[in-house]
Amino acid sequence: MASQARYDTQPLYYNGQRQTTSETFQTINPATGESLGNVCKANQQSVHLAVQSAKEAFPKWSTTPPIERSRILLKAVALLRARNDDIARTETHDTGKAYSETSVVDVVTGADVLEYYANLIASGGLNGETTQLRPDAWVYTTKAPLGVCAGIGAWNYPIQIALWKSAPCLAAGNCMVYKPSEFTPLHALTLAEIYAEAGVPPGVFNVVQGAGDVGAMLTSHPDVAKVSFTGQVSTGGKVAGAAAAGMKYVTMELGGKSPCIILPDAPLENAVDGAMMANFYSTGQVCTNGTRVFVPRSMLSSFETRLLEKLRNIRSGDLFDPDTNFGPLVSRVHHEKVLKYIRHGITQDRARLIAGGPEPPVLPAGISSRGFWVQPTVFSDCTDNMKITTDEIFGPVLCILPYDDNSADWQTTLLRRANATKLGLAAGVFTRDLDAAHRFIAGLEAGITWINTWGESPAEMSVGGWKLSGLGVENGRRGLENWVQNKSTLVEMGGSVATAFVEPTTAKGPQSKL
Ligand code: NDP
Repeated sequence: MASQARYDTQPLYYNGQRQTTSETFQTINPATGESLGNVCKANQQSVHLAVQSAKEAFPKWSTTPPIERSRILLKAVALLRARNDDIARTETHDTGKAYSETSVVDVVTGADVLEYYANLIASGGLNGETTQLRPDAWVYTTKAPLGVCAGIGAWNYPIQIALWKSAPCLAAGNCMVYKPSEFTPLHALTLAEIYAEAGVPPGVFNVVQGAGDVGAMLTSHPDVAKVSFTGQVSTGGKVAGAAAAGMKYVTMELGGKSPCIILPDAPLENAVDGAMMANFYSTGQVCTNGTRVFVPRSMLSSFETRLLEKLRNIRSGDLFDPDTNFGPLVSRVHHEKVLKYIRHGITQDRARLIAGGPEPPVLPAGISSRGFWVQPTVFSDCTDNMKITTDEIFGPVLCILPYDDNSADWQTTLLRRANATKLGLAAGVFTRDLDAAHRFIAGLEAGITWINTWGESPAEMSVGGWKLSGLGVENGRRGLENWVQNKSTLVEMGGSVATAFVEPTTAKGPQSKL
């Protein structure tokens, strides 16, 4: 049972070894509110030592042939898959997500990305380009790793985020110091030791633990060349600002308030299933959630009725019961934040609450009510300027925004409303009309889009936000480009140098090359 879980004190990990510090913090089981164990907190010195261990490992790892790096990383993939269930159990304890989810998604999608990049670098993924300029001159490019990179993760998909960052980082020949969220620290040592067991040399992957101050120490460390960050827009702004001072590369995977557009011809079942996945999976703690669900007024009643019926399929309870598919929120502070938004939706925004609310859910017998449980909540008749439709809540709060489809320009109006946000992470359309789907997708201001589905994010698909939702991408071929720097080399054959400094009488030929 979740309530009996207890973990040994989690050390940091650098120089290929567990490292301890005197200061610790607790990690809490979201299902019970009880401590799962203590975690060593990094300080300025341990952050520096972790960075130095990465710096020392870099020359050898970056010059290890890609095919050898690939072999090592593929061994780590096999170890991750072999230990899937143990790691998933830890993730369920730490995040509060149901084991029915963590056992089939969290490790699986992380290992897939590691496998993808290991295979990509073994098959020319780090090759440059050659451009023939003239018969006797060409340009070739090479891709060089960046050096020591920092990874800073959020708490919603801990091991997946750690792998989505470390996989392309290590594959490209960089070394990483990774800081998980203080709310979900338990996966990181396991990942470091799996890398080591697979043959990743000491110093190539390191872990420091702690809160935002530890992240800030990493971001500002002069030997860190890049920061890959997943988290809130406001934190991302601080991290990118600090990184800019040192002219460091950044990848920013930030928040969203994504539109989920149901067109009038969409099959009702698909539309409702899509909206459910886009709002209640992982108890709504998914960055790409489609929390603004645009429903044609003509379909509103049937959509609401079917949604309410399907809400009965959401089951809170023992997180290790295979039927449980809805866990608590990750932490007390996040629980309070989400409940505040729900109360605001009722009392200030005055949206129509059709399901859920701020009261605690009824839990099966034997389940601790001291956990951070919440009801799946649905508001209807929402409008564009309500706080619940503009702010990222990051919880199970679905907002239905009805729209009219009887004017000549209804599609333009709908698109404008969908784009009326400073965020641009994801968007999606449900319809039978693929022409309309592609027209909408072309007009949507978001980096991740879906047609007639929601949420799948395979290794092959590059993902990243537009507008305030981020910078750069993770995954796919383009994801690897975010971990290398380009070098362009112009080669001139035949021994003649392009020069302006020639004797007047011989002023021909070479100048034309300038
Ligand atoms: P936060 O921004 O609160 O924290 C993210 C990470 O940054 C944590 O490890 C945090 O440490 C650390 N941190 C906090 N302050 C600083 C600082 N000044 N310098 C460096 N690091 C710092 O995000 P959450 O953990 O609350 O995650 C939820 C957010 O993440 C949501 O907005 C969600 O949309 C977004 N997200 C985006 C994804 C994407 O791919 N676009 C994917 C998943 C989530 P600590 O928590 O220990 O204090």
